[in-house]
Amino acid sequence: MLRLLPFLKPYRWWFMLVGILLMLIALLTTLPPWLIQYAIDEVFPTGDTTWLLWLGGGILLLSLMEGLFSFTQQVLSEWVSQRVIFQIRNQLFHHLNQLSFSFFDRTQVGDLISRVVSDTDTLKRFIAFGLLKVVTNGLVLLWIFVSLMMWSPWMGFLFLLMIPFMVHAMWTYSFRVRPAFRRIRQTTGRLTSFTRERLAGIEVIKLFGNETHEENQFQQENQEYLQYQVEAARLGAFWLPYSEVLLGFFAGLVLLAGGWLVTTGRITAGSLVGFMAYVNLLNRPIRQTGFLLSLFQQADTAAERIHHLLDQESAIQNHPGAQPFTRLTDSLSMQGVSFAYDAQPVLQHVTFKIKAGETLAIVGPSGAGKTTLVHLLLRFYAPSAGEILLDDRPIERYTVESLREKIGLVMQHPFLFDGTLRDNIALGTPDATLADIQQAARLASLDSFIKALPQGYDTPIGERGVRLSGGQAQRLALARVLLRQPEILVLDEPTASVDHLTDAHIMESVSSLMAGKTLLVIAHRLATLRSAHRILFLEDGRITGLGTHHELVTSHAGYRGFIEASGDIAGRGGV
Ligand code: ADP
Ligand code: MG
Repeated sequence: MLRLLPFLKPYRWWFMLVGILLMLIALLTTLPPWLIQYAIDEVFPTGDTTWLLWLGGGILLLSLMEGLFSFTQQVLSEWVSQRVIFQIRNQLFHHLNQLSFSFFDRTQVGDLISRVVSDTDTLKRFIAFGLLKVVTNGLVLLWIFVSLMMWSPWMGFLFLLMIPFMVHAMWTYSFRVRPAFRRIRQTTGRLTSFTRERLAGIEVIKLFGNETHEENQFQQENQEYLQYQVEAARLGAFWLPYSEVLLGFFAGLVLLAGGWLVTTGRITAGSLVGFMAYVNLLNRPIRQTGFLLSLFQQADTAAERIHHLLDQESAIQNHPGAQPFTRLTDSLSMQGVSFAYDAQPVLQHVTFKIKAGETLAIVGPSGAGKTTLVHLLLRFYAPSAGEILLDDRPIERYTVESLREKIGLVMQHPFLFDGTLRDNIALGTPDATLADIQQAARLASLDSFIKALPQGYDTPIGERGVRLSGGQAQRLALARVLLRQPEILVLDEPTASVDHLTDAHIMESVSSLMAGKTLLVIAHRLATLRSAHRILFLEDGRITGLGTHHELVTSHAGYRGFIEASGDIAGRGGV
């Protein structure tokens, strides 16, 4: 929780102001027993009734002031704590954006959502309400103690007797509720994750008639959530009865010991009544303590989760002295590159070199590591061994942003966002004109489809682009990348979901647009392979063939088998 201080620091003056108000409130709360004591000990014996008016008016005035201060303080607290949380949320989202693919591979998105949305909210409740109540209650206790000491050290001592009971109860209570709250937060994350994923895959669930199974699984997670909540509530329920008993016991003790002190003349009757009024005042802070402790424990576990996320470092970072990558003038190569997502190796000793301006086709069975290979080039992951070089310079010595700006990648499974066609195409180029966007769409063979729509480029495509066909989504992803005019273009099976004719058309416009630029393409179409300067055949993470189409067809049985199986030969006039 202490690690939150930097977030509070910009608002320290506001917190200070709130602190002053709290001190005043605490002071005002503790004044009435003084007035009572004064009335009994000093005013009643004189029989002067005008004083009573003053006293009554005084108590009324005090509560009015207290009300006014409380109001101001609550508005201020809310104002400042909302701003603190606003900053923390922004920071969390910013940090998430920095984290690398390997982090997201091993993390559940729902859990991240619950950290950004609900953990921050829990923290807010504590900062706005809990933290300040702790301060007020602490001050009230302190003022009470000071007042009692001023009346008589005997009463101060009596008051102190209660402290060990309180501390003991707080201690045991905190230790018990804490794990319960941690489990609640974890299950919240799991429940969010589960709901999010199942709703995203609702089509598959319906297709396989899996609703009942999913519902059972949901109920199981929900059941666990319920159980932890009930457990926490049961632990929480212990506090109220405990504080009732403690206060009752204490009131009895004060009356007994105080009565003896009055009869033996050690304290005045007025201060005993004042003391009893204080015992009454203690009611609220003590009852609240249980609630505050659980609020604190919830906030503390939330803070723990937030900091755990903020502590994650991105595996991919800009090295000191990294320079921007502007263009490829000489060559692109990999030297002995190996990589594994976890223990299982995915790429092993991959070595090749192509000249700037050449087209490299990457071919191989599914799961061979083709996608992984091109992802390494964009530094989505870092190789475990070997080097990737652009113009004989390791890619780590270029800035990550410039690599991703200049190397355009059309992913195998493009992701589209809720929004219009236009917004989605201009995703990486916010200042593109409509003419540019149309041009890119034309190159990707998407323009005629879009023009036929009543809303044209302003047509919303739905969440994840659900209103587009697979091929349309792929072409949109291509248009998005072409619009950025990349130096190096990487296509990961970009036309797998489009028909042969559109495919040919797309590849034609891509090669004319990228003429003289470097092109890496994962594809199996014969025409693409034939026009490539070099073909890399990847099997089980290893390069087993590297050469032109002609060379590979004559020397590489695997490649030949691949071409023959594709059935392309017959249709297009043989090898
Ligand atoms: P290709 O594109 O050639 O079909 P990929 O590069 O996508 O193959 O995958 C190569 C291997 O790496 C596969 O065995 C796949 O299961 C594994 N793999 C791919 N992505 C991940 C990931 N994010 N985490 C763990 N393993 C992965
Ligand atoms: Mg792939």
